[in-house]
Amino acid sequence: MPEEPERPEPEGGDPACWLDQVCPACGRLTERTAAGRCAACGEPWD
Ligand SMILES: [Zn+2]
Repeated sequence: MPEEPERPEPEGGDPACWLDQVCPACGRLTERTAAGRCAACGEPWD
């Protein structure tokens, strides 16, 4: 297998790291519960 090319990463990390932890409904940095809802506001999270 070929080695993955090293990609330049900006200091501070990749936004994609936390974007999937931001609720689409309330915009808070939180997590999706096992039920598929925002842990902060309870809105369905897909
Ligand atoms: Zn929410």
